[in-house]
Amino acid sequence: MPLINELRAAIGTKHVLQDDDMARWRHDWIGKYENTPLAVLRPANTAEVSACVKLAHDSGTPVVPVSGNTGLAGGAHAPKDSLMLSLDRMNKIRDIRPDARLAIVEGGVVLETLHDAVGAQGLSFPMTFGAKGSAMIAGMLSTNAGGSNVLRYGNTRDLCLGIEVVLPDGEVLDLMSELHKDNSGYDLRDLFVGAEGTLGIITGAVLKLVPTPGAFATAMVAVPNLSDALSLLNKLQKITGGAVEAFEYMPAEYMAGLHRLFPDTRRVFDEDYGVNILLEIGATAPRDVAVGEDGALPIVSYLEEVLGDMLERETVLDAVIAQNETQRAEMWARREAAAEVSLSRTPAVNNDIALPLDKIDVFFTQMADVLNGLDAKAETLSVAHLGDGNIHYMVYPSDAALCDAVMEVVEENVLSLGGSFSAEHGIGLSKLPSMKRRKNPVALRVMRQLKAAMDPKGIMNPGKLIP
Ligand SMILES: Cc1cc2nc3c(=O)[nH]c(=O)nc-3n(C[C@H](O)[C@H](O)[C@H](O)COP(=O)(O)OP(=O)(O)OC[C@H]3O[C@@H](n4cnc5c(N)ncnc54)[C@H](O)[C@@H]3O)c2cc1C
Repeated sequence: MPLINELRAAIGTKHVLQDDDMARWRHDWIGKYENTPLAVLRPANTAEVSACVKLAHDSGTPVVPVSGNTGLAGGAHAPKDSLMLSLDRMNKIRDIRPDARLAIVEGGVVLETLHDAVGAQGLSFPMTFGAKGSAMIAGMLSTNAGGSNVLRYGNTRDLCLGIEVVLPDGEVLDLMSELHKDNSGYDLRDLFVGAEGTLGIITGAVLKLVPTPGAFATAMVAVPNLSDALSLLNKLQKITGGAVEAFEYMPAEYMAGLHRLFPDTRRVFDEDYGVNILLEIGATAPRDVAVGEDGALPIVSYLEEVLGDMLERETVLDAVIAQNETQRAEMWARREAAAEVSLSRTPAVNNDIALPLDKIDVFFTQMADVLNGLDAKAETLSVAHLGDGNIHYMVYPSDAALCDAVMEVVEENVLSLGGSFSAEHGIGLSKLPSMKRRKNPVALRVMRQLKAAMDPKGIMNPGKLIP
C-alpha cells in the first residue's frame, strides 16, 4: 500500500489508523452508516492536512473530512477505499481578542470548549445545541449548523468572519479575515460554509463573539395554540428590544416521548398541555441585569408582565419561570434530549424543515389531513426551534414501505408553503433524494459546475450533497 506508507511518512505512523484503531470513527452518531475507509488520518496542523490531501489527490483517492461525527445526515460517511480525515488533533484556540470580539480557532475545537474559553473572558460564542460536547467548529461550519439561538444570533455562517481551507488539490486557501466588511470579489468563504466537505477541508476559522448576557429569564409556558405562541414571542421581542435568545416548541407528543424514554424527568406542569414553549431571554444592558429595589430582576419582570397579561386573556394557560441555574439547566435538558427522543423509534421519516413562522400552523393542519389519507396509523412527533421556523417533524409510519411516500408528501406540503426540506442538518447522504426531487434544477446545475471546477478529480467527499 504505497499510499498508506506515504501518508505515514507525512504525518507519522501512529496518526494513520487502520483496522481496530479506527473503531471510534466506525459509525455515525445515529448508527445508520458504517464507515469502512482505508484509514483514518489524524493530521496535527494545516500543513499536514495539505500533505495528506495532496497524496490523496495524486492517487485519486476520495477524502471524507470528519470533525465531531455528530452530523445527522450521513455527510461524514466514509465508504470503502476512501480516506477519512479527522480534525480532532487540530483543537487549538489560537487567539481570543476581546476588544475585537473575535476568536481564532483551529477547525477541531469542540463547541463546548470554545464556550468555556470565551466565557472566562465574559464573552460568548452564541451557538448551542445538544451535541455541543462533541461537535467541532469545522463540522458546524460545514453544515452551517443552527441550534437554539439562531433567532437572536443567526446560523454558524453568520458568526464566521474568516476561514482557512485546504482545497481538493492540497493547496491552502487563506481566508482568515477578521473584517466585518470586505467586498473584494466573490464571497468564497460562504461557498465553503454549508458545503459539507465537498469543496475542501476547513482547518481554521475566525469567529464572532458577543457579550455574555448578565442575566437570563428562562421559562416553560403553555399556550392554547401556535398563533398565541407567536404572539407571545412578538410581545417579548418588543418589550425586551429583541433579546429573546430561544423560543422552542415542545408539543404534548414530544413531552410524552421524553417521559417515555427518560421516565425520571420531572413533569413541568400538573396538567398535560398541547403547546409547550421553552423560552429564554438574555439581558446584557446593566439596567436589565441589576436587581431592583423590589428584589426582582428587570428582565424577569418584563417576562412576568407579558405572561400576566396573557394569562388574564387566557392566551397563556400556564407558566413556570426558572428560579435558579439548576432549574434553568433542567428546562434545557428536556429540550436537548430531542435527538434521542425523536430518533428512538423506527421506522421513522426524519424531517428537518424550515417554514415561514406564520405558516407553521397551516403545515401541521395540512399534514394531519394528508397523513390520515396515506397512513391513518402513522404517528408524529415534532420539536422545533419555533422562533426561527425550523421544525424537526418525525413521522413514524405503520409500515416501513411507506417511508418514501411520507417523505414526498411532507416535502410537497413544505414547498407549497414556501419552506425548505433542509433547515439545519444539511443534505449528506440521507437527503439526497429530496435534493434531487426538490432543489431548483438551475441551482443544482450551478452547484455541479462549481464542484467540477474546484474538484475536477471528484475526490472531496464524493457522493454527498449533490445528487
Ligand atoms: C444530540 C444532537 C443534537 C443536535 N442538534 C443540532 C441542532 O440543534 N442544530 C444543528 O444544526 N445540528 C444539530 N445536530 C447535528 C450536528 O451536531 C451538527 O450538524 C454539527 O454541525 C456537526 O458537527 P460535527 O463536528 O459533528 O461534524 P461531522 O458530523 O463530523 O461532519 C458533518 C459534515 O461536515 C463535514 N466536515 C466535517 N469536518 C469538516 C472539515 N474540517 N472541513 C470540511 N467539511 C467537514 C463532514 O464531511 C460532514 O459532511 C445535533 C446532533 C446531535 C447528535
